[in-house]
Amino acid sequence: MRVTDTDVVIVGAGPTGSLLASELCLTGVRPMVLERRATISDVPKAGGLGGQILHLLRYRGLLERLTALSPDPGPAPIFPFGGVHVDLSNLADPPLQAMVLAQQELERVLGDHASALGADVRRGHEVVAASQDDDAVSLEVRGPDGPYRVNSRYVVGCDGGRSRVRDLAGIPFPGNTYPEVNRLGQVTLPDSVTILDSGDLDVPGFGRVGAGFTRTGRGLLGLAASTESRVVSLYTIEDELAEYDDDLPLTPTELQDSIRRVLGAEIPLGEPIRLSRFTFQARQAQRYRAGRMLLAGDAAHLFPATGVALNAGMLDGVNLAWKLAADIAGWAPPDLLDIYHDERHFAATRTMLHTQAQVALRRGHDPAAQALRDLLQELLLDEQPARRIGAFISGADIRYPMPDHHPLTGTFAPDLTLHTDHGTTSLAKLMHPARPILLDLTDRPDLREIAQGWHDRIDIHTATTDHHPQADALLIRPDAHIAWAATADEPAAPTLREALSYWFGSPSATT
Ligand SMILES: Cc1cc2nc3c(=O)[nH]c(=O)nc-3n(C[C@H](O)[C@H](O)[C@H](O)COP(=O)(O)OP(=O)(O)OC[C@H]3O[C@@H](n4cnc5c(N)ncnc54)[C@H](O)[C@@H]3O)c2cc1C
Repeated sequence: MRVTDTDVVIVGAGPTGSLLASELCLTGVRPMVLERRATISDVPKAGGLGGQILHLLRYRGLLERLTALSPDPGPAPIFPFGGVHVDLSNLADPPLQAMVLAQQELERVLGDHASALGADVRRGHEVVAASQDDDAVSLEVRGPDGPYRVNSRYVVGCDGGRSRVRDLAGIPFPGNTYPEVNRLGQVTLPDSVTILDSGDLDVPGFGRVGAGFTRTGRGLLGLAASTESRVVSLYTIEDELAEYDDDLPLTPTELQDSIRRVLGAEIPLGEPIRLSRFTFQARQAQRYRAGRMLLAGDAAHLFPATGVALNAGMLDGVNLAWKLAADIAGWAPPDLLDIYHDERHFAATRTMLHTQAQVALRRGHDPAAQALRDLLQELLLDEQPARRIGAFISGADIRYPMPDHHPLTGTFAPDLTLHTDHGTTSLAKLMHPARPILLDLTDRPDLREIAQGWHDRIDIHTATTDHHPQADALLIRPDAHIAWAATADEPAAPTLREALSYWFGSPSATT
């Protein structure tokens, strides 16, 4: 059997795997990406992208490629939250941004980007077996030209909810599968159905179907108008003990049958535009790392509510890439790869908290459950609860535990407009190469001198800013989380040295 040696194999070229691949390429590691499908699946999955990942994609200059295909991200308008609606549209500086974008388009852009940067993307190659020792993982792969073996220093399973890599690594995936099936159709309606100005429908032989959610004893029907004439979204949730394969498409007849069961009446449907079906699971891998095998994306977590999975998975990829690259380059401090588990497991636990709360809100059919939804809906009219939930959904509330205790450490670095000797720029632009940054905002030669010891690993920038970032110097990791911060009046040198060593290893030169 042919044998290839490489540094990193990524299994799966979905959104998580492709973004991880391009992030690794930016650090100089050229991963091999093994994807069992010959082409990108055309079964509709996510219809949009939201949360912190949009900022991160802008910090890499990638968002522009996506906005060429879809309108710019904007404040998420009304977001479903377990049968309740969170309306963030009136908030200044809204905590949740979102954009409309079909997952196939996202996968295409990310896959092309990874290939252009030098990733060895092999489509039609399925990983079927793996074993590991202290030095490498050995994979058996079934490719279009027959089986072959790859020996790799690390393997990352970005191979989705039914991850083979997770099984091969022996990592448990505990949690629940909820006995409910969600069917979603964007469809045109024939002229026999009247769409009223309120968004309600007048259905022949039945009468009025209200916009929003209608609960019946048999399930839940959602109806939302669209900006396109005679196009609506119809959504059903029914309790059902079936497990469907995400890759099997929903048919118009199946959607129509489900509406009939839930409503007790037929809504005539016209042409289908987009049809999808999903079941909800709440599962999280016990560990995101077993030796040289790691997990990211759906392979590591499945959440029981919509709109959060891509954000969580792609952020896993960005968090992992620079740590893996550090290990391969030989300068990673001990435990850096375990910190990947600590940070992203913690982040997914936060997402699990609000998505599981959504299950409890959504599934209750008795008056007490309705009272809970009504109460929450009322609370969400106030700004602070709405902000808090928006931050939860976007992941903006994540503050990783870190040794440095400044209030900013662990948080996501906001984009700052920066005035430098070379003109005006922004933090987002400085982060395009995915390198750590020491941002010196008060011209501190002592700090820059210390950071010189790590000049091969971090970029040092002196600038001023019109914003007030609560600190005058920031050490920012490639995933845009702040690793250290200080104000001008602090004796910052010792803590900066400690933070640099903690995150970026021993200095390469005496300072
Ligand atoms: C109908 C539907 C609607 C959704 N809507 C949303 C939404 O609105 N917002 C949101 O955030 N998320 C949504 N999701 C979830 C989202 O699609 C997933 O979270 C996302 O696809 C996960 O990306 P991933 O890269 O981690 O895994 P996947 O996209 O599952 O990619 C895994 C890849 O690994 C490949 N693979 C698997 N096994 C192997 C193997 N042994 N060897 C080689 N390759 C392998 C697969 O072919 C696949 O390409 C939706 C999902 C569905 C089904």
